[in-house]
Amino acid sequence: MRAEIIAVGSELLTPYRLDTNSLFLTDELHQLGVRVVHKAIVGDTPDEMLSSFRHALDRADVIVSSGGLGPTDDDRTRWTVAELLGRKLRTDDDVLRKIQERFRRFGRTMPEINARQALIIEGATILPNPRGTAPGQWVESNGHIVILLPGVPHELRALFEAEVKPRLSKLGSAQRLFTRDLRICGLFESAVEQLVSPLYAMYPDVETTILATARGIELHPQIWCSDPVRAGQILDEMVERMSLALGENLVSTRGEALEEIIAQLLTENRATIAVAESCTGGLLAERLTKVPGSSAYFLGGVVCYSNEMKSALVGVPPEMIQSKGAVSEEVARALADGIRKRAGATFGLGVTGIAGPGGGTPEKPAGLVHIALADEHAVREKKFQLPGDRELIRNFATLNALDMVRRYFLYPAHGKS
Ligand code: ATP
Ligand code: MG
Repeated sequence: MRAEIIAVGSELLTPYRLDTNSLFLTDELHQLGVRVVHKAIVGDTPDEMLSSFRHALDRADVIVSSGGLGPTDDDRTRWTVAELLGRKLRTDDDVLRKIQERFRRFGRTMPEINARQALIIEGATILPNPRGTAPGQWVESNGHIVILLPGVPHELRALFEAEVKPRLSKLGSAQRLFTRDLRICGLFESAVEQLVSPLYAMYPDVETTILATARGIELHPQIWCSDPVRAGQILDEMVERMSLALGENLVSTRGEALEEIIAQLLTENRATIAVAESCTGGLLAERLTKVPGSSAYFLGGVVCYSNEMKSALVGVPPEMIQSKGAVSEEVARALADGIRKRAGATFGLGVTGIAGPGGGTPEKPAGLVHIALADEHAVREKKFQLPGDRELIRNFATLNALDMVRRYFLYPAHGKS
């Protein structure tokens, strides 16, 4: 079965509101074996809506719409679908009573316009909406299924779960979508693609999407298959080969974020960590404390933005900042070692850099970041020239700092200097 999702709402065509309902619906439909082949976003304009639904009927067996079931004049979904299918709308007395009751419960009388929400397309199954006034509708016509859902995200989700899922799972094909989620750090998207793309031809049934995010590169191999065991074998084998190709740049094969991997590593090794961060302004501490139970290994951090704070709170010698500059290998090392000693932690992590867009020089341009990791024996340091705008540079600096901790455990004895 092929599905199209139509998100209705003029606000979704502005820069202020993102259509998130279709992401939820895509995930749910794929799990039910219904393949989403097209998505559309359309404003509350009757002509545009009609043309959207008409095209969807040409392409898909199942059409799921979200939004436009409200009581106001711009909520046109039920009229559009009725017109397209050549059906009448009738008021359902039961639904109307429920809407009136709902208003009574909140101590109000129902405004006349809300009666529109009891208009049901002829022949449609009513999908009760326990969280809102407008019920969903399930309409079958010429081998197509059109499912009308409200736009409010929590209403849509609850209604999908209770009413749509059970119905679709009876109809869904035997095929399901099986996926894996690989996280990679330390390579650009193109390099990842180059390393793994020879595998695509070996596994022609697997479709792999590659995603570059501020949290690293993600690879999502996926396969439609009616046999879960076979799908698992194919994916496991392909992921194994991808792992070999990606080597130490592979962070996880089960979708764990870098900070979760670090949490495991630090916990297993009974190690603790403290951070001294400049250009990341607290992002590093934020990522480390995102993981529940992080108090077991994260002792704390200092955001030392000014030179004075670097010296006063972490003990970086002012002469060093004077002679080498605040963004330098030496200061990164001093931050890492200083915070480690002051916190009494196993590891100290120090970050200093130029997030831009201003503040750069030809020798030290925006995007230059020094990151250092200290243990009791040594401090290892790495210099990065990061691409992107201020936000990306700060995120990439955080990412690379966390990744240095992960890499430490690959070669714990390495870099004693
Ligand atoms: P109701 O019957 O409760 O009035 P409705 O079906 O008319 O709902 P809308 O008025 O279109 O729904 O949207 C209600 C709210 O849900 C708005 O805040 C809207 O921005 C939000 N919303 C609508 N569609 C989406 C979507 N696709 N993704 C995320 N939010 C959405
Ligand atoms: Mg609307």
